[in-house]
Amino acid sequence: MRRCKKGDIVKVICGKDKGKEGKILSVDLKQNKVTVENVNMVTKHKKKDKGADAGIIKVQAPIQESNVILVCPKCNAGTKISYKLIKDKKIRVCKRCNESFEK
Ligand SMILES: [Zn+2]
Repeated sequence: MRRCKKGDIVKVICGKDKGKEGKILSVDLKQNKVTVENVNMVTKHKKKDKGADAGIIKVQAPIQESNVILVCPKCNAGTKISYKLIKDKKIRVCKRCNESFEK
C-alpha cells in the first residue's frame, strides 16, 4: 500500500536532510522514491542550450519513500497513518487524531 502521494507534506526521518519538511513534488512508483521540495538538493552542471546560459543549478533528487513520514496538518507533527473506509474508498488518516490526509 502506497503511503505518500503528490502534494503531501512529509518529514525526512533519516539521511542528511533529517528533520526537514516539504511537499512531495513527485512519486516514483517503480522505485519507491519520492521527490520532496527543498530536500536532497544536488548540484548539476547545466550545459548551454537554446538561449539559456550554462551554469550550476540545484535540483531535488528523489529519496527513498521509507525515509519520510507524513506530517499531520492538525497535529503539526510527523505521524503514522492508518486507513479508514469511507463510501468504499480507503482513505489515509492520522493515527493520533484521525485527521484525513486526502484533499
Ligand atoms: Zn493528527
